[in-house]
Amino acid sequence: MKKEEFDKFYNILAGEEGCNVTDQCCICHSDHRFTKKILRKYFPKEDVNKFIAWCKSKGGYCDCEIIFNVEY
Ligand SMILES: [Zn+2]
Repeated sequence: MKKEEFDKFYNILAGEEGCNVTDQCCICHSDHRFTKKILRKYFPKEDVNKFIAWCKSKGGYCDCEIIFNVEY
């Protein structure tokens, strides 16, 4: 995934289709369900397992941790 694609993914993940991050809260199920859903919908060519492995290598062990820890 390129930087521009990751930025797009990140914005979707942080938005209503994902963790819906606000000042007060953030939805996360301690897994990568939003990440998987967003990849399937918007990035069908992306290898989900590879992408999640890459996120984990940067501290993204669940959807919200991708938002808070992962930088491209
Ligand atoms: Zn989380």
